[in-house]
Amino acid sequence: MPDNWNSRISINTRVGRITPPHPYGKTPIMTTSIQKAVRAEKRARTLGDDPRCPICGETTQAALVTTDDGIYCYECHCEKQGKATTEAHHHLGRAIDPNTVTIPGNIHRALSDRQRDWPMEARQNPERDPLRWIAAGLYGLHDHLAWWLDWLRRLATWFLQLAEALRDQHGPQWWDALGIGRVWEAAA
Ligand SMILES: [Zn+2]
Repeated sequence: MPDNWNSRISINTRVGRITPPHPYGKTPIMTTSIQKAVRAEKRARTLGDDPRCPICGETTQAALVTTDDGIYCYECHCEKQGKATTEAHHHLGRAIDPNTVTIPGNIHRALSDRQRDWPMEARQNPERDPLRWIAAGLYGLHDHLAWWLDWLRRLATWFLQLAEALRDQHGPQWWDALGIGRVWEAAA
């Protein structure tokens, strides 16, 4: 990669397009991170400071939508309109594979947003190249795992708080008091 590659990146913020010269590929990894930053900046401008869903408290930018009624998360917005809160997600990307999995709407929005950062070679596969197909699957798996990774510490903290609340209410062996047993005794 040329030393001055960074300095030759040009961002046209007016139309939101990024046009870096690059000798090796059509979608260099650095380009996708810049595209991601530009999208986040645009969303921040639209959503304002500290946006969150007034119903459930969701703060994930990609999951928030601006409506005539204010800012809501996608799932609460659907619920208000009497629509399903789950959606069909194209795990490998719509252009690569038509198969879908049903997931909550907010996660769908976040994962679809991440798909926009995949290299174009993994997002389009007109010849059904098996390696591009596998690459799309790996990007999809990565995005799912990355989404959960973002949540792991928060979940661990929340479970500890829940454990304290249960101990206060039911004693140090709350699982016996509730008759549910320990987690490793549960049926798989
Ligand atoms: Zn919500």
